[in-house]
Amino acid sequence: MRIAVLSRNSNLYSTRRLKEAGEARGHQVDVIDTLHCYMDITKSRPAVRYLGEELPYYDAVIPRIGASITFYGAAVVRQFEMMGTFCVNESVAISRSRDKLRSLQLLSRKDVGLPRTGFANKPDDIKDLIKNVGGAPLVIKLLEGTQGIGVVLADTNKNAESIIEAFMGLKANILVQEFIKEAGGADIRCFVVGGTVVAAMKRQGAEGEFRSNLHRGGSAKLIRLTKEERSTAVNAAKVMGLNVCGVDILQSNNGPVVMEVNSSPGLEGIETATNKDVADLIFSFIEKQAKPHKTKTKGK
Ligand code: ADP
Ligand code: GLU
Repeated sequence: MRIAVLSRNSNLYSTRRLKEAGEARGHQVDVIDTLHCYMDITKSRPAVRYLGEELPYYDAVIPRIGASITFYGAAVVRQFEMMGTFCVNESVAISRSRDKLRSLQLLSRKDVGLPRTGFANKPDDIKDLIKNVGGAPLVIKLLEGTQGIGVVLADTNKNAESIIEAFMGLKANILVQEFIKEAGGADIRCFVVGGTVVAAMKRQGAEGEFRSNLHRGGSAKLIRLTKEERSTAVNAAKVMGLNVCGVDILQSNNGPVVMEVNSSPGLEGIETATNKDVADLIFSFIEKQAKPHKTKTKGK
């Protein structure tokens, strides 16, 4: 098959591994810089142009869209969908998952465990907002944050109030969330491909850090999931409509709760921690699923 990896940087571990794994299975794999794609949308025949030429028809596209280019990246993926190309994750699902609030709202409708979470706009709601998620300690999160930046732990209700006021004063959108203390500064990253968890790792935050992000100095090791953790991850991926994703779970006293679902999960951490060839499994999924005009949402 002819397959494109949409990625800003061909030297990134994940991009390199995808190219390597696809070629090892006999596919032609082109790495295309998402931001250098441009689209001709006036013609009735949709096309993507790149470096002065029209791109050939691809049987499949693997979108690796960074959070900072979600809008343009989703538009490029949508354009491939219009051409009938099978996109491993659909544009609608990518945009959806990038909005933490929208994701939690969609997940809350289905039987997926979640931390109690509040969202408000006006400062006069603050006290009730805090009470409603069970009071301090609680976690305050910037909606647009990634890699653990913009996630703050408030120990007391007074602290929480002033942090929330400060964020609201900056007109930042924030979530207020129950602090899952018993998770002990660790979380579980489940890597889902085609409705199955193919690899999972437990990430432990650095000493004294409640955030387990590897970017914040956390470390990762292989973990065996419980049945409930596995089904939580699979259900979350299904609700989000993502074929390939990373589902981040906290182990709470009430069972697994989903923190977020990442539509471009990194391969380096998970492949190193689990010794699994996750990139190869993504191609095996593509080989089974890639048929023209399979987009469920039609870009809407
Ligand atoms: P980001 O998208 O920036 O990584 P997350 O929401 O995943 O933000 O939070 C970063 C880290 O903070 C998580 O990996 C987890 O270890 C910790 N964390 C986040 N929310 C909670 C919570 N409600 N209770 C306990 N720990 C949390
Ligand atoms: N148009 C989208 C759909 O049908 C919207 C749903 C959503 O809120 O993500 O899937």
